[in-house]
Amino acid sequence: MPADPACSEPLIEAIRGGDAQAWSQLVAEYHGRLLAFARSQLGQESDAEDAVQETFVGLLKSLGGFRGEASLETWLFQILRRRIADQYRRLGTRREVTLVAGGDAGNAVEQNNLDRPADQSPSWYVRREEQDATDVRTLASAVAGVTSKLKEQQKFRDLIVFDLLFFAGRRNVEIAELTDLEETAVAVLKHRFLRRVADLVESVESESGSSERSGSLSDELLTRVWESTRPTCPKRSTLGKFVLGTLADEWDRYVAFHTGELGCRFCAANLDDLTDELNSAEASTESARHRIMESTVGFLPGRDS
Ligand SMILES: [Zn+2]
Repeated sequence: MPADPACSEPLIEAIRGGDAQAWSQLVAEYHGRLLAFARSQLGQESDAEDAVQETFVGLLKSLGGFRGEASLETWLFQILRRRIADQYRRLGTRREVTLVAGGDAGNAVEQNNLDRPADQSPSWYVRREEQDATDVRTLASAVAGVTSKLKEQQKFRDLIVFDLLFFAGRRNVEIAELTDLEETAVAVLKHRFLRRVADLVESVESESGSSERSGSLSDELLTRVWESTRPTCPKRSTLGKFVLGTLADEWDRYVAFHTGELGCRFCAANLDDLTDELNSAEASTESARHRIMESTVGFLPGRDS
């Protein structure tokens, strides 16, 4: 799971006040993993650096909209994905910013809806077009609740199935092949997961007196939640231990799956960055940080340049 959003709040507050040192700290903390992600998507080093630079400028321009619902890291990755998509457009390339290696989540989910057993979908969710941001937030926190429980209980097999379903957009039958589970077992796990998420959403909504809804929770919506909140991504500290080889076996296997077989690009970027740090091969990343600082500091609140 990404870092606790609350941790970045004082930093964001200071930056809102135009504190250049706080800004420098934030750039130092995040530029390496963002550069690693951009490098994985754009061939040219200079394009990658441009995209990251624009991402930091984008963050400064959107500070007002940052409410700490997603972690700061996830927020930055989202801005970066948009910048990279812009670059593809500028270059005239038709390409998706892929989230998982070899992944095709956007195209796969629609197909994925077909193999859901007809009467197994909890029918409680309105269609995507009709949902407002509050619904998505409620859903995201329900998903976070269920997945963090699974991590606590070390139910890594379940996490692997849900990563494959909702992050990679794989179908039940493919997951059965990848995990040695029967296809029906995958369907049952999925149904239970949706049920638990639905129960949490319902309990929040009955507390807040929200109106009742109908329809079903779509895989596409869950994929959007997965992308924007990354509920299963290991913490950076966990990834650090993975690089050092000091994780407990169960965790080690899950992180190996998440970053390898699943190929989460966000975590892969973190791993690249952490490995760089470890090898102190970060001279070029360091000089990139200086250039990023120089070119973004003028956008800090309270500076008219
Ligand atoms: Zn991840």
